[in-house]
Formats: sequence, C-alpha cells, structure tokens
Amino acid sequence: MYTVKFYKGDYSKRQNDANQDKAVAYVEHHFNSFTATSNYAVVITGSNASTTSKNWGRWYAREVAEHFGIPVGGDNGIKVGGFGGRGDGSIKHTDMPAVLLEPLFASNPQHAEIIRSESGQSALAQILVESIRRFFPDGGLIAFSVGHKYKDSSPHDRGAPLAGRGNEADFAEKVLEKAQALLLAADHPAEGRIVRVMQGDTLLFEKRIDEDAVVTWSSGRDLLFIPE
Ligand SMILES: [Zn+2]
Repeated sequence: MYTVKFYKGDYSKRQNDANQDKAVAYVEHHFNSFTATSNYAVVITGSNASTTSKNWGRWYAREVAEHFGIPVGGDNGIKVGGFGGRGDGSIKHTDMPAVLLEPLFASNPQHAEIIRSESGQSALAQILVESIRRFFPDGGLIAFSVGHKYKDSSPHDRGAPLAGRGNEADFAEKVLEKAQALLLAADHPAEGRIVRVMQGDTLLFEKRIDEDAVVTWSSGRDLLFIPE
C-alpha cells in the first residue's frame, strides 16, 4: 500500500517535511535543458546518496532511455551531486532514498513533443511507478516534489521553457500526477514478478511468473517465451 504526498515550499522545507512524515522515498521531477540536440536521460542523486538511491536512479534512467531509444547520461545514468552542485540541494537533506529526475530535454524539439503528449507523460509515469514498486516493495509514503514550482522564495519559477510551447514545471507536475494515480490504483498485485504486454497505454496481458523464471524474447520469431 502506497500513499503519495506532494511537498511544496522551498526545497529544504519540502525535504524536512518529508523527513518528519517518515516518507520512504523522495522524487523531484524536472526536465533537462541545454541545446536543441541534447539527447539523454539522467538522474541526479545527492552528493551523500545511498546505494539504494544510486541503483534506483540508474534503473529509472536506463528504462527511460530504452523506452524512448535514447542514451543514458552521466555515470551510467546518474550524476552524483548534480551538475556542478546544481540539484544537490533539492535532495541531499532527505533521510530517505531520493532522486531528481531529468528524463528528457525541454530544449530538444523532439523531446518537447514527447513531454507534451499524453502517451509520453503516461510512459514516464509508468516507468517511475515501476521503479518505486521495485525499489520500495513494502509500500509507504512516497514524497513527490515538482521542480521549480511552488517555491516560496521564487513563486514564478517554472524552470526551462519547452521548445515550442509550455514549460518544464507544469509538465513535470502532470507526470507526477499520473504517477500518483497509478501508485494508488488498488488492483495491482502487491508482490511477485509480473510479465506484461502493453500496446501504447493499454495493458494487453499480465501474468505472475516464478521469481527465477528465465524469460526470453526472440526478435526473429517475435516471440516472448515464458517457461512453465
Ligand atoms: Zn529543472
């Protein structure tokens, strides 16, 4: 069982509040911004990050990269302590594992199209939720923080502009809202290993499998093989 709470105010306040609430995991959502051709997924962890935070961040970055067909950035998908320290203060004050997500580039027009699309937002939410279920299988309070938005010290900050239209923070919020709905959906099996087949946002097939099962995909036969 998961609960979700969105934390607002300045970044240090959000983290202190989540610590007081004994959240089990902390997620701050951004989109990256550099050039129009920047093209990778990365997660920032605090300079004091635990192994769990690093593994969680790498898992998420790798799955985002695979889904959208882009590389991972940083050190195998993570940047410990942020870019020249930027981002570190958003997560290093947490008592629990914490990640700052930079899945796509607001400055890249193709990424911006994905960020504005329902299907892109759903895919990002789905990957985030799967990462939370995988790394925090016992449930608990998940702390969400929308990057840039709702800071008392800078209430008009919305982060980077998206190429075309829109801004980083409003779309980060949409992804987190979708992730919240997925996490709270009660019909998901609580534990075990599950194989799924999806078409777009639609789940076509779902089956619990043995923890030790070797699942193989044959691209020549277009066949997913699950042992008995
Ligand atoms: Zn940002």
